[in-house]
Amino acid sequence: MTIYSGPVFDMAAKQFGVIADYLEIPVDQRDRLLLPKRAVTVACPIRRDDGTIAVFEGYRVQHHLTLGPTKGGTRFASNVDLGEVAALAVWMSWKCAVTGLPYGGAKGGIAVDTKKISRRELEVLARRYMQELIPFVGPHIDVMAPDMGTDEQVMAWFMDTYSMHQGRTVTEIVTGKPVSAGGTLGRREATGRGVAHLARRVMQDLSIEANGATAVVQGFGNVGSIAASELHKAGVKIIAVSDHTTALHRPAGLDVPGLIAHTAQRGSLAGYSNELASDPKSILTMPCDVLVPAAVERVIDANVANNLRCRILAEAANGPTTPDADLILERRKDEIFVIPDIICNAGGVVVSYFEWVQDLAQFFWGEDEVMRREYQILDTAFSNMIERARRDDIYNRTAAMATGVERVRAAKNTRGLFP
Ligand code: GLU
Repeated sequence: MTIYSGPVFDMAAKQFGVIADYLEIPVDQRDRLLLPKRAVTVACPIRRDDGTIAVFEGYRVQHHLTLGPTKGGTRFASNVDLGEVAALAVWMSWKCAVTGLPYGGAKGGIAVDTKKISRRELEVLARRYMQELIPFVGPHIDVMAPDMGTDEQVMAWFMDTYSMHQGRTVTEIVTGKPVSAGGTLGRREATGRGVAHLARRVMQDLSIEANGATAVVQGFGNVGSIAASELHKAGVKIIAVSDHTTALHRPAGLDVPGLIAHTAQRGSLAGYSNELASDPKSILTMPCDVLVPAAVERVIDANVANNLRCRILAEAANGPTTPDADLILERRKDEIFVIPDIICNAGGVVVSYFEWVQDLAQFFWGEDEVMRREYQILDTAFSNMIERARRDDIYNRTAAMATGVERVRAAKNTRGLFP
């Protein structure tokens, strides 16, 4: 039992336990790797449009500081709590380590339903949150980025608030900013592109022709929509998509550019089509070549895992698969190829790293350069995972996480325990 205990942190702890057993990490050394270094809780008061005052609770968890600053997104969602943010911070650590980035993991969030506040209220809340966290963040301490419910504009407000406080422009305090405010080309698309790139690589390995193959995408935010669009461009039929409002199913393939245009205008898939409406839960278990969960954590539980009918599970969300489901997918590993979240969706933080490097150097790259380097890092991490999984006959997630955990552990052991 820790202050973080709850369904999501317990899941991250359980996953870590599996890896710690596999790596035979002595029990007394495990908490040093798992427990977050710091967690900050802030109350963010704002004046509502109607003149009343409302207070929103926010969090920032910094998992470890052993390899450099911490790095991770900021989630604005109604069910955000300390345990969820801590779990997401832990996952960021393994993700940064497995891709070789010089960061520890972090995550932040505010418990707020962004659909129930105005644009002005959102700006004031984002600025107040950053203001409250100024003592705890910095370009060499903790670098924020977008996550569910936040976007480039929110990052611009964060950067502006921090910069006004410093009395100079500090673009390197956050990543995922608009290109007009020190962001990098290719960041907005980075996560979805990385997911599609790795899914296509596995399709090739499995001799699945992209043209005419099928995919199902759960979640149609920045990550899900770009992954769908990239797969669609490669000739893959997107036979079902969903978001928090609705699910759509069309066996002949959906019009992905049309869906993207609709969501850009209306904010969600709602109202796109009554005819194509489907049951959001059942789309996960539809027969398809590629299943892309790109929404929230824990959607693939043991029951869903037993009923999955995809060939490739490309985990675009963080933590979509529960440890119970992992036991089943481990048994089904010759039937379903899992691209684990910490590699599958790492394109986002990889390009965030490029943004930070470009901001620090004030030297900017072209989009081709960004994409080439992104794919290079993802391909290396992926190849290492495959090699380890084959060599030791282990499940892909075990191989990927083991490499991440080992790297953090090696850095901690080499640096020693202070004092
Ligand atoms: N929120 C994203 C993630 O979960 C990106 C984090 C970042 O770019 O720092 O990986």
